[in-house]
This record gives sequence, structure tokens and C-alpha cells, in this order.
Amino acid sequence: MKAVIILEDQLNSWLQALGSGHQLFGPVKSKKRQSVISWSKIEKWDQLSLTNSVPTSSIKTFYFPQPETLFTFSAKWNDPNAFRMMEPKTTHIPTLLVGVKPCDARSVMLNALPYKNDPYFQARLDSISIIAIMCLTQSATCFCRWVGGSPLSTDFIDVALYPIDKGYIAEPITQKGQKLIEQASETASLNESQLEFLENIKQNEQAEQAKSPNILKNLKEKELMQLYNAPFWHELAEPCLNCGICTFLCPTCYCFDIQDETVRNKGRRIRYWDSCMFPLFTLHASGHNPRGQKFQRVRNRFMHKLKYFPDRFDHISCVGCGRCIKECPVNIDIRQVISSMLEVE
Ligand code: SF4
Ligand code: SF4
Repeated sequence: MKAVIILEDQLNSWLQALGSGHQLFGPVKSKKRQSVISWSKIEKWDQLSLTNSVPTSSIKTFYFPQPETLFTFSAKWNDPNAFRMMEPKTTHIPTLLVGVKPCDARSVMLNALPYKNDPYFQARLDSISIIAIMCLTQSATCFCRWVGGSPLSTDFIDVALYPIDKGYIAEPITQKGQKLIEQASETASLNESQLEFLENIKQNEQAEQAKSPNILKNLKEKELMQLYNAPFWHELAEPCLNCGICTFLCPTCYCFDIQDETVRNKGRRIRYWDSCMFPLFTLHASGHNPRGQKFQRVRNRFMHKLKYFPDRFDHISCVGCGRCIKECPVNIDIRQVISSMLEVE
């Protein structure tokens, strides 16, 4: 599969062609608050807000929606099917996400590990395609290389776009991606200098990767109990407000709760996002709470990402997007936590 050039003036007609088979979403600036960039329906390329930083919200909502209906039921006393579980009438419309950052695309691959046997998650994954824009520059809060990613990672991407003067190099990563590119009405082959440019940025990235520390390996060499009982957890947790912003915005946080909702004799069981930073998350029916103290919740968030998940799946449960660093009201920084964990003797 060969990369091609798609020029600026072709992008709108390409989107239009893609829109005939998919619903299109991209990062769009909020009209009310310009600093907020969230995933919205798009029709034109210039609606996209493409910066060197990640959008405020992640793409997890597309395959782990808030909420997901697991089944429906009737609560009518004279209904012969009352309280029987009925499959929800969910239609999965083919969805194309345009302008995804490589770290966000990689988060889909990580979340698919614990949700491997989850039919709801898997059905949504099948209906999603991703056109990503490779990061040729990064923001101060990006650290994807620390956690096994890369600004040029192609995990879970169908088409990789590399920004060039007046357009993009479009590289198909999957067969699906090849078909997406073929819908552009006009493409051009890469000339010598464009081929060289692509080769150079890939080689430079390989060199950067080779220089990056292997945090996963270094953390795995640590004893669990040494990290668990490390003294810095209390100090780290002190300012935390347990607001949960870090977990809700995080593309790799996937905890949920389940509730039954009934309105006028019609019911549904829903799964919705929850957060380990909330005291009620672990409250038992007996009244006992194994994570009743704030430091226990903060410790759990980081131990899950940096120790328990890696022990189970051999990946750190973080893609280095930096959202939790940027949005935490009290400046708790996962990079400092990683450094503290690595310092524990
Ligand atoms: S965003 Fe910051 S203050 Fe809020 S729960 Fe997360 S770590 Fe605590
Ligand atoms: S832990 Fe923070 S930096 Fe890592 S993926 Fe989640 S939001 Fe991004």
C-alpha cells in the first residue's frame, strides 16, 4: 500500500465522499469556551481544530459510550414478558474519526485488552475507522514515548496523515485505510523530496525511541509491595480533590458502574463511566470501604495504570496524552509519580 499526497483544496471533497458511507466526527472548538475542543460531527475540513495538543475529550466515548444500554425490560405488571431481558435495539452506524492523535488511537488498543470478550465494546470497535494526524510537534504535557507509544504510532489507525506544506501525505495503514484514501477524487504520487521527508521523520523517530527509557521494564523490576507501601502516596494525595477529572478525561480509564432505570414501566440496564477517585466507587453494601481514605484512591489510580495493568497485559495503561496533567486543578502530574515509583528502593 502506497502513500499519496492529498492537497488542501481536495480535503473537503474527500470528506464529502467519506461522509456518504460514514458519520464523520472530528475535534471541534466549543462555541461557548474556545479553550475546549471536543468531538463533534463535521462536514468540512476547516471545522477541525488541529493543534499540537490533544483535544480536551478523548475518543473513548465512541466505543465505551456514556451510557451504554446493556438490555431493556418491561416493568408492566400485566405484560407476559415483564422483567425479561431484551436485547437493546442499538444500530452501529459506520463512524469515521478524523484528526485523531496517535496516542488516542493507541488507547483503543489498550482498552481492547480488558474488554476483549465484551460484545458491546467489540461491536462498536468494528464500526469505527480512524484517520489520524501524526504529531510532528508535541506539547509540553505530551510524553507518549515514556509509556511505549510514539508521535508516529500507527496502532489502531487506518490512515496516517503527515502534514506537509499545502496538504498531507496520506499513508494507508490497513486495507480499510486504503479504501478510504481511494475515495479522494484527486491524489498525487510523492516526489523525491517528499519521499525523503517521510523517510527522515520515521528514522528520526526510531532514534528518539532508542533513546527513551524503558519505563515498563524498569517498573516491572520493582517489587509490588515496595511500591504499594512507598511513603510518597500520602504527600501526593494531600491536595487531591477527588474530582475525577483525571479519570473521566483519560482515554485509558475504563471503570464503570451499572444501574437499572425505569420510566413509566419501561426499564433499561445501563453501564456508565465511574471513577476510582470517588469514595463511593468501592463502598460495600456492608458499609465497609476498602479505599475509604483519599491516599488509597490516589494510590490505586496510579498503581492500576503503572503496576497492576502492566503485570496483567504487559502494557502501561497510559498513552502519555497529558490530559490529566493539564486539567488537574491541583497539578498532580503522572510523570512525577512515575519518577517517584522508580526511585523506590
Ligand atoms: S484531577 Fe487531580 S484533583 Fe481531581 S481527582 Fe484527579 S488527581 Fe485528584
Ligand atoms: S493517565 Fe493521564 S497522560 Fe496517561 S493516558 Fe490517562 S489522561 Fe493521558
